[in-house]
Amino acid sequence: MAKKKTPTKKPVYTPEELEVFRSQLKQERLRIYRRIRSASVSLTASRQAGEESADIGSDDFIRETGLAIMSYDAEKLRLIDEALMNLEKGVYGVCLDCGKQIGKPRLEAKPYARLCITCREVRESNSGMPMDPDRARFLDRSSHM
Ligand SMILES: [Zn+2]
Repeated sequence: MAKKKTPTKKPVYTPEELEVFRSQLKQERLRIYRRIRSASVSLTASRQAGEESADIGSDDFIRETGLAIMSYDAEKLRLIDEALMNLEKGVYGVCLDCGKQIGKPRLEAKPYARLCITCREVRESNSGMPMDPDRARFLDRSSHM
């Protein structure tokens, strides 16, 4: 049997474009790391201040808020790492739900986007779930943390 050329694997983005996305992702990752670090510094500071003036009840609030920010950042970091991994594998910018290439303007605005605009809108009107339930199972695999 003669080997057929694979018609589906044609690269949509040029290596130069991919390189731009890669450096955007790395910059964003660095920004998050810095923010997490400064957040944990201010958390420690607020804790010490709270010990000096024991009647301030906002310590827990500050801590919880800080943790909320950090878990949001942690999620974003995960998406960035995933995008970088996909770059390595040559499958960067492929929509998780429909498998189509995510549009360049969207990736430029959000280089770690996992969904194309259409699928994102579907999810928003479907309480966060993709239209195809089989694809939802595929999504669950990414919760390895
Ligand atoms: Zn899609």
